[in-house]
Amino acid sequence: MNTKDTLIIGAGLSGLTIAQTLRVRCYGHRFLLLDKNERTGGAIRTHAEDGFIAEAGPHGYLDNCRESQDILVDIGLTTECLHAPLSRFVRYVYIAGSLRQIPQTPLAIIKSPLIRWKAKFQIFADLWKKPLQGEPTVAAWAAYRFGASLLPFVDAALTGTYAGDMDKLTIDGVMPGVRALEKKHGSVIRGLLAAKWQRNRPGRLSMPAMTSFPGGMQRLPERLTEFLRPEIDLQLNCSVENISKTEDGWQVESEKGTFQAANLVLALPVNASLALLKGIDNRIPLPDLPEARIATVVLAFAREVKLPPGFGYLIPESEGRFTLGALFSSNMFPGRAPADCSLIEVLAGGRRHPERAELDDRTLIRQALDDVKDILNISSEPIYTKVLRNSSGIPQPEQGYPDLLAWRNRLVNEQQGLFICGFGWDGIGMNDMIKTAGRVAESIMAGRKDSGQETSVKGVYF
Ligand SMILES: Cc1cc2nc3c(=O)[nH]c(=O)nc-3n(C[C@H](O)[C@H](O)[C@H](O)COP(=O)(O)OP(=O)(O)OC[C@H]3O[C@@H](n4cnc5c(N)ncnc54)[C@H](O)[C@@H]3O)c2cc1C
Repeated sequence: MNTKDTLIIGAGLSGLTIAQTLRVRCYGHRFLLLDKNERTGGAIRTHAEDGFIAEAGPHGYLDNCRESQDILVDIGLTTECLHAPLSRFVRYVYIAGSLRQIPQTPLAIIKSPLIRWKAKFQIFADLWKKPLQGEPTVAAWAAYRFGASLLPFVDAALTGTYAGDMDKLTIDGVMPGVRALEKKHGSVIRGLLAAKWQRNRPGRLSMPAMTSFPGGMQRLPERLTEFLRPEIDLQLNCSVENISKTEDGWQVESEKGTFQAANLVLALPVNASLALLKGIDNRIPLPDLPEARIATVVLAFAREVKLPPGFGYLIPESEGRFTLGALFSSNMFPGRAPADCSLIEVLAGGRRHPERAELDDRTLIRQALDDVKDILNISSEPIYTKVLRNSSGIPQPEQGYPDLLAWRNRLVNEQQGLFICGFGWDGIGMNDMIKTAGRVAESIMAGRKDSGQETSVKGVYF
């Protein structure tokens, strides 16, 4: 029997961050990271071919999270980072058949010609409206507080983050911090002003930058893995089939044998955790969480095709397009394509159209190309195409998600040595994962239970 201090199931960004923190901050702590795949990184996967670099998973993360910055320093990647500041790169929303620049700050939203004056006044109705009861969807909540005219923008924003459906995602699941402000102050605007006043941070909202690496996002998990000793700290090709409690800790049964430890961390997407937790507690309020799957269609064009400036565009469902949006990857980071070529990554599928992400490569490329040619007014054929598929779906905090979270918090409080984090539990972004994983590692080192996440309002969500 292989005995450790801590077993961590899942060697994606969450598990790797916990391992890194324990390795650096808790000398002598014996941990083992188990993953069913032959590689680490989970949802993070870069595709590099013929001088083109594209992502099957995350394209980057915002540099406004202290914990993520600390990890970069720890593993010596700070100087390698590429930064694409949001303030310099515009993003577009495709509305009424053309690309319109997304206003990036509250003041720019108020000034924007995209929103009619009547609709702008409606936004301020938030000041006098009572909080909506129950678990409203984001669409119902946003229309009630700020008016229905904002819905295409809300839709585009949720497409760009969750690949989700605003008629299914709930405001309590997506923005618990904003919802808490609304409930406390009776108005989101009043709550935001009060929070700003309390932080005593006058002045403009500073815009963060998107971060990546010259070789793509995979560099981050690969670097984190370099510090781990194969078979001692890390077991790959090792699917965990069952977990159970022992007298003094936890037991894990896997493809590669049985392991025991005082602490057990599930650093897994919500549904993978639920599958293992069924045997531990039968009061799980939801059988599983819906997921949104995406296919990325990579299209490269020769020099005569010039992309508009900026990061890319998002398309609300109401526009009736096949694709969800596109990233102008060669504008975002240098080195994504050979000199003078343009690289676009087009997203298809999502919560509303999962069948589209399953289409064969030829059909996906043709449909994506039709959209891109029409929207960007391109007549040339691409010089390179590729379809990237990610086995991970994006967990969707829909109806019942707060109950699931409350159940998770109760369980870790009841079960000594059990920790649950990962994709979808306390957010879906890479910064959320790093922050929560750091908190879990701190709890393990301090020998205490995980206290859970405090709801907070982020300066920039999308
Ligand atoms: C298409 C897509 C685009 C995204 N874009 C962005 C973006 O632009 N910016 C951003 O910040 N975030 C983005 N994300 C989210 C980001 O990728 C995740 O937050 C992060 O990668 C999740 O890391 P994780 O370690 O929690 O989970 P995962 O990456 O899912 O890792 C979990 C690991 O657990 C392993 N595993 C599962 N079950 C078992 C088992 N039974 N036994 C052993 N091992 C198991 C898996 O093999 C996997 O390696 C995107 C995600 C997707 C899918």
